[in-house]
Amino acid sequence: MSLNLFDLSGRTALITGSSRGLGLSIAQGLAAAGSKLVLNGVDPHRLDETVAALRAQGISAEGLAFDVTDEAAIINAFQALDARGIAIDILVNNAGIQFRKPMLELETKDWRRVIDTNLTSAFMIGREAARRMAERGFGKIINIGSLTSELARATVAPYTVAKGGIKMLTKAMAAEWGELGIQANAIGPGYMLTDMNEALVNNPQFDGWVKARTPARRWGKPEELAGTAVYLASPAADYVNGQIIYVDGGMMSVL
Ligand code: NDP
Repeated sequence: MSLNLFDLSGRTALITGSSRGLGLSIAQGLAAAGSKLVLNGVDPHRLDETVAALRAQGISAEGLAFDVTDEAAIINAFQALDARGIAIDILVNNAGIQFRKPMLELETKDWRRVIDTNLTSAFMIGREAARRMAERGFGKIINIGSLTSELARATVAPYTVAKGGIKMLTKAMAAEWGELGIQANAIGPGYMLTDMNEALVNNPQFDGWVKARTPARRWGKPEELAGTAVYLASPAADYVNGQIIYVDGGMMSVL
């Protein structure tokens, strides 16, 4: 048995939506465990700034800007990695958006945009990564779900459906790709302090609801996801496949 249960040295991780927020914190955690990073975002300028800041800290990081809803761009991105001899050992499907509107007012184009960004992207990027991981007989995929992988909330129907889909996509990946040496697991974050929740944090009623409803009595800090991502990417989780781990200050466990 390896004594370096959480050692990721020699590994390379692609984290989608890692120019900021939870993706960036996960990337920093993976780097601290020894992994090289390939960061992604849709805004190339923000991505360049993030990559430069990480490199300034001595972290091995590359930027790969592409829109996770654009299949041609995804295929090009993986071909660009192939051409440079960069193999992805760890994939974190993290990029996501939220869009709040009651279903009775929701337009189909917005439904599709949320499903495409939060769910179909994970299938398309997972497939490209897994084809290559299968050739090497090794791969770790971590999909970012949510409390809404399990529970519905008003005004975020397509997000809820996408995140419920992430839970089952993770199980489907485990079912099909386990024999290829790939483990696919998911993380379900609770309410975390990122740009995505800025309006909610600044809404006293919502802020009060989160604190009352969460046993930890506070919002989660982005860096509090990193350890779970390191665990799932590491040899310590080699026999863990198809699971979703909630990192939510206990919110899912109480009524
Ligand atoms: P942020 O809004 O802070 O960051 C989103 C990230 O995703 C950015 O890096 C952004 O890139 C990138 N992104 C968005 N759309 C695309 C796209 N089409 N193509 C490529 N990159 C894209 O979000 P969070 O960090 O809060 O959320 C990260 C993940 O965690 C999401 O899947 C979210 O659903 C999930 N989550 C978040 C929770 C929370 O409380 N914050 C709770 C549960 C789940 P750019 O900077 O270029 O715009």
